[in-house]
Amino acid sequence: MVEFRARHANGGWRWIEATASNWLDDPAVQGVIVNYRDITERKLMELRLQHGVLHDALTGLPNRVLLSNRLGQAIKCSQRNPQYHFAVLFLDLDHFKVINDSFGHPVGDRFLVTAASRLHRCLRSTDTCARLGGDEFVILLDDIHSLDAVVQVARRIIQQLSLPVEIDAQMLHSSVSIGIVFGSAEYNDPAEVLRDADIAMYRAKASGKSRYEVFHPAMREAAQARLALENELRRAIAQGEFIVYYQPIVNISSGELIGFEALVRWQHPTRGILTPAAFLDVAEEVGLGDAIGWQVLEHVCRQLATWQHSFPHAAHLSVSVNLSARQFMQPELYVRIVQLLTQYNIPPNCLKLELTESALMEYSQEAAAVLARLRSYGIQIAIDDFGVGYSSLSYLIQLPIDQIKIDRNFIIQLDQAHHSQAIVRAIVNLARSLDLKVVAEGLETTEQVDRMRTVGCHYGQGYLLGYPLPAAEAIRLLQGGE
Ligand code: C2E
Ligand code: CA
Ligand code: CA
Repeated sequence: MVEFRARHANGGWRWIEATASNWLDDPAVQGVIVNYRDITERKLMELRLQHGVLHDALTGLPNRVLLSNRLGQAIKCSQRNPQYHFAVLFLDLDHFKVINDSFGHPVGDRFLVTAASRLHRCLRSTDTCARLGGDEFVILLDDIHSLDAVVQVARRIIQQLSLPVEIDAQMLHSSVSIGIVFGSAEYNDPAEVLRDADIAMYRAKASGKSRYEVFHPAMREAAQARLALENELRRAIAQGEFIVYYQPIVNISSGELIGFEALVRWQHPTRGILTPAAFLDVAEEVGLGDAIGWQVLEHVCRQLATWQHSFPHAAHLSVSVNLSARQFMQPELYVRIVQLLTQYNIPPNCLKLELTESALMEYSQEAAAVLARLRSYGIQIAIDDFGVGYSSLSYLIQLPIDQIKIDRNFIIQLDQAHHSQAIVRAIVNLARSLDLKVVAEGLETTEQVDRMRTVGCHYGQGYLLGYPLPAAEAIRLLQGGE
């Protein structure tokens, strides 16, 4: 049986299947009979199916399977011929989720189709542009001579994809982050190339989006370390390895202890006590920040209950807990906090929640309502790291809050820059006029404490006044006050 193509009289092609049967031994026939059948319809269906297996339905671009085939060939080529190079660009659209969530999937799909056609225009006919799924695209630049040439393509793509896309009279804005692997004979497997390009893309995202990064082996180690940390964090959450240190907050006029700030620590089985700098960013990025945050809140409530029971004279002390932006916007935040306070029988005014300026700015629409609700229950609210972003000052002071904490960087500058003193004085005056309490953070010297006292700041926190302490040691401060 053979299949072949033949020209039709109308100029098009038809697919023909020929089957031959041997009738030579049949005295009546004594020949070979060939049957021809027009199989064009079946053939087209097959081709369509085959296309479907190798292409993405939405954009018509090659899919992962076809990309892997071509990438596999490129790898083989580079192993045979040292002059041959290929490059892989791993693309991920920035903020695509926002477009999808705010305008709906049909608009998101049209956006992707436009992005795909723009990508196509940046490439040569020998290049492969594939869609891996979602907003991820991969480009294989075949037989490319220099990294410079690759970078030029990447720049062109970044420029093209930053142009707005008009859909239904709306201008939608996005951009793209690109990870580049300039391929060589070291690779054996398409999956390895894609993994490295993905790692570089992740770097591009992390360092500000709408940019490219060229893969370097050191990035792989960093990515592996991150992954290991992520796994360790999951285990640590399950095993309850997070504990809370308590740093004293003091009235800087009277020296009286007014409360503590709860600061999370990881009691790591081999590395000792770790501070948030070693893990909190990664935990937030991979979505484990909430789980840690709730463990901290639970620790604090349990601790407060014990203290209030053992030291009735300390019943007025409050503990401040830091909330991440994500935790702050959890719909169940209010209910869960109220639940915890009730369960441990804690008066709501013993709990302070600290939120950074940026967390409040990020969710400026909803923030005021959430704060008002917590506050009406009696929980106190503090703005943390105050003074880091000025533009928001007028907005922030309108929020329903009780306290502002002046950032440590301001306090450091107090020693050198004269104008900082004026700014701090202005902040304190403004806060006082609004009946807000002011806490100075990071006080390390008696001069700093004196200055803050002079400008009228109420409370202070810092190594001079007390280090963050494990609960058992913080108790000694309470006993001392007996
Ligand atoms: P933060 O809220 O600004 O906390 C104050 C940080 O300054 C703490 O660092 C504290 O140990 C440190 N500090 C206090 N006094 C001084 C001083 O006199 N000099 C200097 N150089 N540093 C001082 P820590 O404990 O490493 O925490 C770092 C950050 O991690 C915190 O900054 C906070 O943003 C975050 N964090 C800590 N615990 C939690 C938590 O339970 N949940 C969340 N979401 N974030 C937390
Ligand atoms: Ca804080
Ligand atoms: Ca702070």
